[in-house]
Amino acid sequence: MPYAWPQDTDFVRWELDVLKRDCPSCGRMMHICDHRYRHFHTLEGPVELVCKLNHCPDPHCPGHATTTNPEVEVSIALPKWAIGWDVLCWIGHRRCARHWSTSQIQSELFDSYGIKLSADSLARYIRHYQIMLAARHQDPATLRQQYESVEEIILAIDGLQPEKGHETLYVVRELTQKRVWFAETLISATADEVRRLIAQARTWAEALGKPVALWLSDRQEAFVTGIAAEFPNVPHRYCQNHFLRDLAKPVLEADSHAKVQMRQKVRGLRKIEQAVLQRQGTETSENTAGDDAQATVPITGGPADRPPAQADPAGAVVLDYCAAVRGILNDDQGGPLQPPGLRMAEALGDVRESIQRNLDEKKGGSQRSNWAAWRVASTAASTKLRPNKRRSEAMSRTSRKLRRPGIPAVEVARTARRSSRG
Ligand SMILES: [Zn+2]
Repeated sequence: MPYAWPQDTDFVRWELDVLKRDCPSCGRMMHICDHRYRHFHTLEGPVELVCKLNHCPDPHCPGHATTTNPEVEVSIALPKWAIGWDVLCWIGHRRCARHWSTSQIQSELFDSYGIKLSADSLARYIRHYQIMLAARHQDPATLRQQYESVEEIILAIDGLQPEKGHETLYVVRELTQKRVWFAETLISATADEVRRLIAQARTWAEALGKPVALWLSDRQEAFVTGIAAEFPNVPHRYCQNHFLRDLAKPVLEADSHAKVQMRQKVRGLRKIEQAVLQRQGTETSENTAGDDAQATVPITGGPADRPPAQADPAGAVVLDYCAAVRGILNDDQGGPLQPPGLRMAEALGDVRESIQRNLDEKKGGSQRSNWAAWRVASTAASTKLRPNKRRSEAMSRTSRKLRRPGIPAVEVARTARRSSRG
């Protein structure tokens, strides 16, 4: 559809001559026989391009009946385009490199350059750009150059769904150069369709003259059969990412279940804290008259909200323990390699050990030294909460902890066993 230019458009006039003016048939100097006018947008403004058309002056020469166009024209704008290459590159770059939406590009083109394009035209230009980009990426000469120093090729295939409900985009990548070779949407990913893509990859590898050392995929049926047929002696392995993800799924489920159980078992923090705060409240109210606020101190508050430890050192230690345990129970960070439930079990085990040490000590030593020990122990328990700290050490000690009976950690082991059976 021709572009509708407003009546008052202020065009800059560019004139183009034919550079090579020898008649291609007889070699005589050609003459200008006509002018062709066209209009398009550039980033510098609207342009009226005047192309001077040439033909051979000899009426008996075949070069007389045809006209020759200025060679440079296509390097400014392709035929029928309402924009020059500079505008096309501007659009394509915003879309492909910056991931701007079509409507964003549309408004920005108008606001900054006064270029008005319909959504349809813009989509068409973007499509042109994408095709050119893909062609450039797949250019055999460019590819050969990039793979010159590569000895073996490693290929991967995967189906991606850019948006839910859309057809799946099958992507073939080469991993040594981290390059997407090609991608195609398959509406029905039958074994034959998938095999066609794998065969295409084989053609590419053969064109490069490089052996394929390995295929990687999530090993869905069509990939397994297709690769076995097209690459009979090439190993085909699970993609590590898929492998870990699949492997981790039941582990993380069991881990999450174990966390729930530990949280159910380790309860009553609020009651303990309230009891301590109440006791501190009654003690301090003997000194500070009419201070009811102490009894309603928010128990989730930090140490600053609490009464000074000197007033009730044992109570302060208990509150520290409560804070540490609450931190442990709320710590949800971690993925398949650092399951949060395992870390929780480990940390709760440490708290338990710490309390046990204090109880053992109490049988012998004086109360004063016990308080000191509690302070140290509870601080140690809180530092455990910081993620990443001494994680590997903590992980290596976990298995030992799991075997010890009577602590929440044992639940992890039991749950993990149960879930793996089910
Ligand atoms: Zn001629």
